[in-house]
Amino acid sequence: MDVINVSNPVTSACLYKMPSASEQEITSAFVHARQAAEKVRQTSIKERQAEIRRLIDYLMANRERLLDRIVEETGRCRTDAMISDLFQLVEDCQWLVDNAHKILGDQKVSTPITLLGKKSRIYHEARGVVLVISPWNLPLAIAMTAAMFAFAAGNAVIIKPSEQTPMADVFKEIVSLSPLLSEALTVVQGGGETAQQLIALRPDMIAFTGSGRTGKKILTQAAPMVIPVVMELGAKDAMIVFDDADMDRAVAAATWGNMHNSGQSCTATERLFVNDSIYDTFVERLKKELEASTLGLDGNADVGAITTDFQADIIDRQLADAKEKGARILCGGQRLESGSRFFQPTLVADVTDDMLIAREETFGPVVSVYRFTSEEEVIARHNACDFGLSTSLWTQDTMRADRVTRALETGCVNVNNVMLTEGNVHLPFGGVKYSGYGRMKGAEGLLGMTRSKAVLIDPTRGKREPNWYPYSKEKLALMDRLLATVVRPAGLRKLVSLAGVGLAIEKLVRRK
Ligand code: NAD
Repeated sequence: MDVINVSNPVTSACLYKMPSASEQEITSAFVHARQAAEKVRQTSIKERQAEIRRLIDYLMANRERLLDRIVEETGRCRTDAMISDLFQLVEDCQWLVDNAHKILGDQKVSTPITLLGKKSRIYHEARGVVLVISPWNLPLAIAMTAAMFAFAAGNAVIIKPSEQTPMADVFKEIVSLSPLLSEALTVVQGGGETAQQLIALRPDMIAFTGSGRTGKKILTQAAPMVIPVVMELGAKDAMIVFDDADMDRAVAAATWGNMHNSGQSCTATERLFVNDSIYDTFVERLKKELEASTLGLDGNADVGAITTDFQADIIDRQLADAKEKGARILCGGQRLESGSRFFQPTLVADVTDDMLIAREETFGPVVSVYRFTSEEEVIARHNACDFGLSTSLWTQDTMRADRVTRALETGCVNVNNVMLTEGNVHLPFGGVKYSGYGRMKGAEGLLGMTRSKAVLIDPTRGKREPNWYPYSKEKLALMDRLLATVVRPAGLRKLVSLAGVGLAIEKLVRRK
């Protein structure tokens, strides 16, 4: 049985060791979830909202301790842990408490005039067992937001946290908050193989957040079983600054947008496009702001550490490759000291397409700056990227903002802000191209955790439908007239002609 060693990324001290789930434990966890799915499906939305409220109470009552634990396992600074893990999760859960019943209730929809007298409904039903596979960068918020959306929709949930940041005690506490939560939520700890074994047992849906590399493996495994998958993958997000941007605010946003979570956010602004006419001033001010950022873990620190060794190695490798190929490091460019998990906030110029840093996700406090001259050029360069998750766009010209927003190939656009669509749980969140598909959050994210059942209720008694047998040439001619009526403009004329055809069909049906 594999042992997971969880250590503090900054001090390297061992925090705890635990066994990865055994094959038998994985199977029992799945059987438990499958049985729980039937019970959770029977609960009302109100009951489930009360359970989510219970989770919010737990998060609020234990927030200092939870922040300690997040900082300890991820090495991110305390304010980052507060903003991205705790605040976000509490807000998302509160939104479910306030809104889930409005979105998940049975829906009445119109019925076309050709189906006169019938009623149409959509029931938003639970899928069954939803498997949530989550990454290490926001260990609490990503796993629990997906889990609570799935649970609110009436599903049983299996959570497979990242083996890098299992937050084992916290997940245990959450699951034990109430009998219904213990029934509905199952946490299985382990690495990629554990997740593969869970997928092989055929969950009804997979909500995956992580790298594109893993995402493709999951798709390959899930495809033969036709398991629906939401893919929240990596990115190489851009910030575009036009010459009329509010310079002070844009510089501050460019700094935070990359350094937040030490750059370990899927929506971090790794590519910064600045209009030629303001480029030199902008870059000078950004450099000063980056150099003024403080490194550390406590409430006064701006930028924390890198969570995993392999991520720190990727940053080292990308910087070495960029330097070798002629990039200029305007500030930072290395770890605080050899072997440290803290990286100096880094600004890179003269980046060319052949450099790793231009194409691959960095996931560290490193931002590359590029000059552009025209709107068309910057849109083309933005869209040439394989990824597209969240773009930051800066201009005071509202017409241009709208035009460019529509032209960008990306899942989210923040006009005169950065990474903020993610902070509004009313909005759907997700990417395009290699950043994935499907949406989390918002009404779309919640409905994505359900399967819609289309229902048509017909009060007709004792008569056949006109389109049923027997067929005749007379009926065919009538259908032809009906078809012509369907495509006429709406209004009285259509009603009258439909009524005429309807009467004729009625006669025909009676005559059989
Ligand atoms: P990862 O892909 O290495 O791991 C993610 C999860 O997948 C872990 O729980 C891991 O155990 C599991 N896993 C590994 N191999 C698997 C397999 N073969 N089958 C099934 N599951 C498997 O990602 P990571 O390094 O933990 O996270 C960082 C990545 O996540 C970055 O690329 C980042 O951009 C992305 N991310 C995306 C979003 C988003 O919303 N788009 C949010 C956060 C992070």
